[in-house]
Amino acid sequence: MRRGTNLPWVGDYNQAVVLDGIRRHPGTSRTELAGASGLTQQTVSNIVRRLLERGLVQEGDDRAPAPEPAPAPVRAAVRVAGKPRTALSVRPGAVVAAGLQLDREHLDAVLLDLRGGLLGSGREPLPDPQAPVELVVAHAAGLVRRLLEEAELQGLEPQAVRGLGVAVPGPIDFAGPVRSSAINLPGWRGVAIADLLAEALGLPVLVENDATAGAVGDLWRSARTGRSFLHVHVGAGIGGGIVLRDEVVRGRSGNAGEIGHVVVDPRGPACPCGSRGCLEAVAAPAAVVRRYVERVGPPAARRAGLRLAGRSVIEDHDLLGVRAACGDAHAAAVLEEAAADIARVVLGVVNVLDVGEVVLAGSGLRSGAQRVLSAVERHLAVAMTREVHRVAVRVSDAGEQAGAHGAAAAVLHESLSATWATVHHPVRGVVISPVAPVH
Ligand SMILES: [Zn+2]
Repeated sequence: MRRGTNLPWVGDYNQAVVLDGIRRHPGTSRTELAGASGLTQQTVSNIVRRLLERGLVQEGDDRAPAPEPAPAPVRAAVRVAGKPRTALSVRPGAVVAAGLQLDREHLDAVLLDLRGGLLGSGREPLPDPQAPVELVVAHAAGLVRRLLEEAELQGLEPQAVRGLGVAVPGPIDFAGPVRSSAINLPGWRGVAIADLLAEALGLPVLVENDATAGAVGDLWRSARTGRSFLHVHVGAGIGGGIVLRDEVVRGRSGNAGEIGHVVVDPRGPACPCGSRGCLEAVAAPAAVVRRYVERVGPPAARRAGLRLAGRSVIEDHDLLGVRAACGDAHAAAVLEEAAADIARVVLGVVNVLDVGEVVLAGSGLRSGAQRVLSAVERHLAVAMTREVHRVAVRVSDAGEQAGAHGAAAAVLHESLSATWATVHHPVRGVVISPVAPVH
């Protein structure tokens, strides 16, 4: 876990360190927290008392199955003789956040408690990729509202809900009211998404790039520290979320990681970003379906079962996965080419950033995650660091809803942690931007 500091003016930071330690290591004790954080036993005891008073923490070994492989408890550095060890855990229902992920064809929403437990989830198809923004916002607000109402029927206290995190494709303008201009959502330019959803739901709203949200969620769920990884999101578009030594890399404007706009074929198809042959334009689900249709012709594609309608891209892409498994050589070829293009760009990013893990997620991997995973592993065989350390490749444990999970986790993290610099818009929402702790 992170190290605390015993300087007097950083109490909030220490509180966040202790709370995070208890959350990541359920069943830990005050002594173990002191040993792992470097804080004095007295400081930890004072912080734990405050957390107990606020109802964020409870005593007793209330371990629940963790979303990741069960974390090892923090090892005690010292033991206080004669004092019984009291296990600590977070009170899961004390703080809850909603997460929403916008994609071209559907919306995903989840409700997470403080322990990362899933209180509810849902998916809503969008009526039309050309749907006006107001309609998309109405659908999104309705989906989140339904999840909250269902959870309240199960005992959720409304005041525990800290806010809504929204994962949207980039780019996002975080200066002033948060504006989304997702280039793979038609007509989606300068949309004040935080304002619109905050107004519709009466909740603080935090906006995050979808791939970065996926990375934040992975970081939040993990009991390990010192992680450096690339989170690859394959939805309607392709994006990357970057974490180096547990810090989310955001770049100059919060838009780092746009691996979907690395050019892989200069003579390739035009990309909505204005360039040509971007990874997204050749390997995202719509590009794969288009390439298949070009090879076999529209009549044969329809006979193969493809709908080729504006809102059926993901279903058509899934069907190509099924057909490839059943011996359709053209389907296998276009999927293999896309996987290789993704893998080539991932190799480049791994070489540039020296990460130790690659995490794959998104609805575009529904039927082809293994194919992409294998391609990435093959390409990483020539990674520059191959003789220094292994680069692990895996599919996100949050699956297709990784962005929604991450957006909710970002709200939980932001609302409890003093380690992230925050810019609060009381009504409009909250923009997060993690920075190194103050020393
Ligand atoms: Zn592009």
